[in-house]
Amino acid sequence: MSNYYNTIHETHKLLKDKEISSVELTKELINRVHDVEPKVQAFVTITEDQALEQAKAADKRIAEGNITELTGVPCLMKDIFCTKGITTTCSSKMLYNFVPPYDATVIKKLNDAGMVMLGKANMDEFAMGSSTENSAFHPTRNPWNTDCVPGGSSGGSAAGVAAGEGLFSVGTDTGGSIRQPAAYCGLVGLKPTYGRVSRYGMIAFASSLDQAGPITHDVTDAAIVLNHISGFDDKDGTSMPVEVPDYTKALTGDIKGMKIGVSSEYLSAGLDDDVKEAIVKGIKQLETLGADVNWEVKLPDPKAALAVYYIIAPSEASANLARYDGVKYGYVYPDAATMWDTMHLTRAKGFGPEVKRRIMIGTYALSAGYYDAYYLKAQKVRTLIRKQFDEAFEKYDVIVTPTAPSTAFKFGDKINDPVSMYLSDVYTIPVNIAGIPAMSVPCGFSKGLPIGMQFIAKSFNEEAILKAAYAYEQSTNWHSMHPEI
Ligand code: GLN
Repeated sequence: MSNYYNTIHETHKLLKDKEISSVELTKELINRVHDVEPKVQAFVTITEDQALEQAKAADKRIAEGNITELTGVPCLMKDIFCTKGITTTCSSKMLYNFVPPYDATVIKKLNDAGMVMLGKANMDEFAMGSSTENSAFHPTRNPWNTDCVPGGSSGGSAAGVAAGEGLFSVGTDTGGSIRQPAAYCGLVGLKPTYGRVSRYGMIAFASSLDQAGPITHDVTDAAIVLNHISGFDDKDGTSMPVEVPDYTKALTGDIKGMKIGVSSEYLSAGLDDDVKEAIVKGIKQLETLGADVNWEVKLPDPKAALAVYYIIAPSEASANLARYDGVKYGYVYPDAATMWDTMHLTRAKGFGPEVKRRIMIGTYALSAGYYDAYYLKAQKVRTLIRKQFDEAFEKYDVIVTPTAPSTAFKFGDKINDPVSMYLSDVYTIPVNIAGIPAMSVPCGFSKGLPIGMQFIAKSFNEEAILKAAYAYEQSTNWHSMHPEI
């Protein structure tokens, strides 16, 4: 029997009961990677030798009784997290040779828990994109249909888990990059509250929006990983000193009387019929489970949130990416005549087209004369969006929406039309603008491709999301389906 589609909690039991060793499991996963990777291409870097070392260390820990739920569990990490001694590229030519001298806090915490990292997952360059087609190295394919994208920017993370090349992953979400690929690949993807998980050592895209979170097979696994990666970190100035509860305690299955809000605006224009049908069915299921659903809740206009995002995110990106100048580290254009030529040509050749587009938009929006009209205005609208969510959460515990307007699209469909690509995040972006937590959970299929339903709650109330989503998940079997590759 194979173990590569096991959940973390199933694996933990097998390891604890000594029915399998981490070395055996890791070897099985490495074989699986060799089998399916030519078709899926989820990884940028495979760290086989290091994984076996970690597995041996995990077995030793287990023998000593020093086990956590993640000890000995094979996984893959988005290539945006700095990993000491292991190349970290952000899927950019700019960082093709960058070997960090330190671990991101997320990586450190997972190492302390005893994870076995099989490698670094592919992504859109600097996390800009929704399809992983913007990777400087290669696209990643959706395991459910290899003609389709896995979503993005954490597409390698999601495709890898969906293909059985790792039992879980941690991705990052600036506008939807955990939830949208999780939805496209039939997985659970959780974006925690801004400030819940440390951003230290996570390569910056848009610092006021970026947040790390788990991509897993089910809600229980999401709670387990969140338990391990959350918490205050004095190395991240925006990390919040809020106590970390045991998130698995929220998984009671009882949502009787829970107040759930739904907005008809989020179920109208631009939404695929099949997706709409699956979401409406999912919400009705929540009603059957005893939730008290209001179908007409006023929520922030998703189109306004999208407009705000495409001013704020590129503005912050233009500042964050100024450090890649061919001087400090990473790619350097060789043989340029002057220092200025080196900087210019390094950027011209080192960044891909989408990254350059964002830097130009951001630089423009922040420039004297345009700052008030664009950046400042966007910040004001951001405050209004946050307030509208606050008002909704005075009455509702959880809000439910689609995760994405469609299922995974075909390669090439949107890559030359940035605006249509940007629209695939229309339901996820409002959440990042407000800094609140949200999670995508599998809720059906359309033409063989998975659909995701999004649960949103107020800041630091991940428990409400996990509770509602767990009750829903336990009453369906979407999460236990796997693709034939
Ligand atoms: N697709 C969005 C973008 O390109 C969101 C990306 C993300 O969440 N990292 O900006």
